[in-house]
Amino acid sequence: MIQDLLKSKNVFKLICGAGKEDCEEVKRLVYLYSLCGVKFFDLCANSDVILAAKSALNLAEVKDAYLCASLGIKNDPHSNKAVIDYDKCINCASCESVCQENAIKYVKVKSQKCVGCGRCLQVCPKQAISFRSEYKEIEQILPPVVASGIDCLEFHIIGQDEEEILSKWNYINANFDGILSICISRGKIGDESVIGILTKMLKIRKPYTTIIQADGFPLSGGKDDFKTTLQAVAMAEIIQNAKLPAYLLLSGGTNSKTAQLAKLCGIDYDGISVGSYARKIVRDLICRPDFWTNQNVIDSAISIITPLVKSVLE
Ligand code: SF4
Ligand code: SF4
Repeated sequence: MIQDLLKSKNVFKLICGAGKEDCEEVKRLVYLYSLCGVKFFDLCANSDVILAAKSALNLAEVKDAYLCASLGIKNDPHSNKAVIDYDKCINCASCESVCQENAIKYVKVKSQKCVGCGRCLQVCPKQAISFRSEYKEIEQILPPVVASGIDCLEFHIIGQDEEEILSKWNYINANFDGILSICISRGKIGDESVIGILTKMLKIRKPYTTIIQADGFPLSGGKDDFKTTLQAVAMAEIIQNAKLPAYLLLSGGTNSKTAQLAKLCGIDYDGISVGSYARKIVRDLICRPDFWTNQNVIDSAISIITPLVKSVLE
């Protein structure tokens, strides 16, 4: 049971990316991290991606792992995909070198790999990159995701439209009876609003059937230092102080320093979700054409991943 894993207070959740639609990349990530002892995987709400993750778990012969699919509301940055305006582009390739997801090659965006982090927009000297939203209504994407057999659904909250949040939340509750996760960042809404909306959302849930994922700065991970993970810990403290009947995970800038900093700050967390940093450290190995045939590639990836996983699980 997924609750048993959460009750262990020793959870590493690999965030493959709410916008990561590249099935092969997800399969390789899930395979590697499951071999390193990870039991919880966060995926794009796409049944092909979910099937890819399941096939990776079969290949790794890991049976006691759990899958979560991420859903957003309008303006969720995870639905964004970078688009290049070639009338403005000067082919400098700055975007390509800054992309942590290998989503830009030869100044072309592979949208299935793009997670909407915005790093390419920030470095483009010609403002040639913008976002296109691929947001789809939850009512449209939920049925096939639930049918594909998922253990947990995560709802990403952003913005101030409480009415819309609660309406989608009610819909999710009516159509899925497993563990739910709420991924929430402060953004522009402030601490009181965060706790206010969470309290309302938890009213219709039985105690400890919900995860709150305290999201520091969404999609901000990449560096392995304390500063990058500071906001995730600060956000977790706000949630912890509210004493809500839910499991607490940290995300948004998480890395191998997160567990250490959270413990130093007295955060009684149940787990840590790592996305950008966890993907970045193996991104070159993940892309290798001989990934499935060269054991050295797998072994190298495992030796890179192991210290990160250990930083959370030990
Ligand atoms: S830098 Fe971020 S937004 Fe830009 S292509 Fe890469 S993943 Fe997408
Ligand atoms: S950073 Fe901007 S100008 Fe440079 S290659 Fe990318 S899109 Fe073109």
